[in-house]
Amino acid sequence: MTDHIRVRFAPSPTGSLHIGGARLVMYNVLFAHGEARREGKTGKFILRIEDTDRKRLIEGSAENLMEGLRWLGLNWDEGPDVGGPYAPYVQSERKHRYGEVAEQLVSEGKAYRCFCTPERLQEVREQQQREKLPPGYDRHCRNLSAEEVQAKLDAGEPHVIRFAMPLEGETIVPDLLRGDIVYQNDKIDDLVILKSDGFPTYHLAVVVDDHEMDITHVTRGPEWIPTAPLHVQLYKALGWEMPIFAHMPLILNPNGGKLSKRHGGVSLNDFREAGYLPEALINYMALLGWSLDGKTEIYTMDDLLQHFTLEKVSPSPSTFDRAKLDWLNAQWINHHISTEDLALRVMPWLIEAGMITEAPVNSDHPQYGTVVALTGLLKDRIHFLTEAPDLMSYFLIDELPDYDTALLVPKKMEAADALKVLHATSELLPNLNLDDHEQTEAAFRELAEGLEMKPGQVFMPIRVAATGRAQSPGLFDTLAAVGKERLIARIDLAREKLG
Ligand code: GLU
Repeated sequence: MTDHIRVRFAPSPTGSLHIGGARLVMYNVLFAHGEARREGKTGKFILRIEDTDRKRLIEGSAENLMEGLRWLGLNWDEGPDVGGPYAPYVQSERKHRYGEVAEQLVSEGKAYRCFCTPERLQEVREQQQREKLPPGYDRHCRNLSAEEVQAKLDAGEPHVIRFAMPLEGETIVPDLLRGDIVYQNDKIDDLVILKSDGFPTYHLAVVVDDHEMDITHVTRGPEWIPTAPLHVQLYKALGWEMPIFAHMPLILNPNGGKLSKRHGGVSLNDFREAGYLPEALINYMALLGWSLDGKTEIYTMDDLLQHFTLEKVSPSPSTFDRAKLDWLNAQWINHHISTEDLALRVMPWLIEAGMITEAPVNSDHPQYGTVVALTGLLKDRIHFLTEAPDLMSYFLIDELPDYDTALLVPKKMEAADALKVLHATSELLPNLNLDDHEQTEAAFRELAEGLEMKPGQVFMPIRVAATGRAQSPGLFDTLAAVGKERLIARIDLAREKLG
């Protein structure tokens, strides 16, 4: 290995970034910024946008993808937005280079012009199907004479450029995770490297870009293994040093197929909108196919930068386990980020729900202190950030939404009993300092004794009156956070409902 490591993520901006793509980015970052640097090498991670498949481009998806990766905390050293010494980092801006390389290969007899029409290719395919032959180009144009080619060019016939695969021998694709993968050359098609519109196919573009950007390790999805022999042959034909390939494993859905949108939201945006923390996603993605010791489950990005090694990723596919991810998300929310930090993550959701002032989310926000206090109170009950507005609602809004009156009456009690409790509470409240939990608790226990009821029987109507629900954090914390003024109004409302 060299003393510098350069890896890249090369998405096509054709839609939203899937968790599989995000995991590739994470591997690259951990490899370049963790493993390489631990070994005293320079490690750089490059983002390159592969936009040469012009038909599939989706406006805005590159920006969206970059935004999502930043949200995850995965940053690149060079890329379309941050620049770098190997710019441009957008393939369409390098178009002329691919044409030059393709022409060079043609002039050296290592690639050839193919004038076959789509109709002819279709006929070839159909014939192969009838004869039960493997599909592939029949190399019709590989043997055209120079004069024939010139005549077709003069006639302005559109053409592509195909790579002339060696017809004998074998090609070895060395893979960091899988060892040598061996292919018989005669089984490999003469694939198109330059399209008739002058744009390269993935195969040519990826080889030219990885070479010109001095990429040392190519991590990518396993779907590229079957065409990797072509890439190896292209490196040979061009006399370029090959990078190390690491075809990473797939993520499967629980039924064994490829994970897709049908199995719930699996794009980064979907997770973000569903209230997952980036830390939990990183933690989960790291555990898919990798483990430090077979038992540690919580990893911070720093832990991973300390310990992750690319070679230890298992090449076999892993199954997406949403329950595990959800568990990790709750673990992170409940135990692994500070209350202040969690409050800042909850605030955009509260703003969106219209529950706090629309103002920049930071510690200067007018309700920052309130939200921190509520977050401390409710932290253990939050599994997804999306749940926070509902859990915090009765603390933040003045008027409770209508609730079922029956909730006010505990089991084995009558409405009249609940009314007595609420009446006594109304009398007690003006003299109570709700911030003094000991005093409040003593007062309510005394109230229970006076009414000859159990504390639980007394607490229930008060809790429901204060919150509109049967469950809340500890009663005295809850009463203090609701505040005396609102509490008095809510007890009155409950008495009206019962009366
Ligand atoms: N643009 C390719 C893709 O999105 C990149 C594959 C690679 O990393 O080489 O699958």
